[in-house]
Amino acid sequence: PSCLYIVATPIGNLGDITLRAIEVLKHVDLVAAEDTRHSGLLLQHLDIQAKLYPLHDHNEQQKAALLIEKLKSGLSIALISDAGTPLINDPGYHLVKACHQAQIRIIPIPGACAAITALCVSGLPTDRFCYEGFLPAKSKARIDYLTQLIQEPRTLVFYESTHRIIDSLQDIAQVFGENKLVVLAKELTKSWETIIRLPVNQLLSWLTDDENRQKGEFVLMLEGYQKDPNDELDPTAIKLLQRLQQELP
Ligand code: SAM
Repeated sequence: PSCLYIVATPIGNLGDITLRAIEVLKHVDLVAAEDTRHSGLLLQHLDIQAKLYPLHDHNEQQKAALLIEKLKSGLSIALISDAGTPLINDPGYHLVKACHQAQIRIIPIPGACAAITALCVSGLPTDRFCYEGFLPAKSKARIDYLTQLIQEPRTLVFYESTHRIIDSLQDIAQVFGENKLVVLAKELTKSWETIIRLPVNQLLSWLTDDENRQKGEFVLMLEGYQKDPNDELDPTAIKLLQRLQQELP
């Protein structure tokens, strides 16, 4: 019977593909991929001749509808993204939801995910954490977003791109204070893998000391809020007061 497989692929090192992922990619009728050129290279490396189905020419809802038709006609389909686990800041949500509605079986094939890979080497508490994906691109929206997280006690996990790493860290320093403990996991599983754990102002100096350090893929993690018994006002109230002060004539 037809079914949809959600298949994780590597986040860098091609050795990080599971035996089950290889089996599934070999045997499905179609491999639905975010970028067929990129995924073509992975399949070629694994010596798999699969029929690739491009997802990027349609919007998510259209794609889901088209794939549901194929699944209903009896085809088995594997969904992969460019890297890591599909749906984790990657396409697939509409498709999985539509499969539930159409009562089509969905089988997960777990594997690499940058957030989890980074978290477990961060040295920050892992018992509870918030996965926050990408921060807003514009500084005003980013600061507003970060401000709501000031008192979040859980470890915060963000994805970040080369273009915005400095700006985001500057905003983090502004909102959380320059001593906020940050862990940056960069280029995980690749040749230039680096895991660096510093207060945010020192991390900014480390990154600006050498521009090459700002290149690559990043997971950014912040230590959760710990209440200081000496604080009379909570930090959200302090931020609010500071902003009011700016707005008032
Ligand atoms: N689905 C992927 C996953 O399971 O992690 C995430 C896809 S998201 C579009 C891409 C972002 O993930 C990058 O901008 C970066 O923040 C993070 N990322 C992916 N691979 C990474 C790696 N090898 N090292 C560090 N971060 C990585």
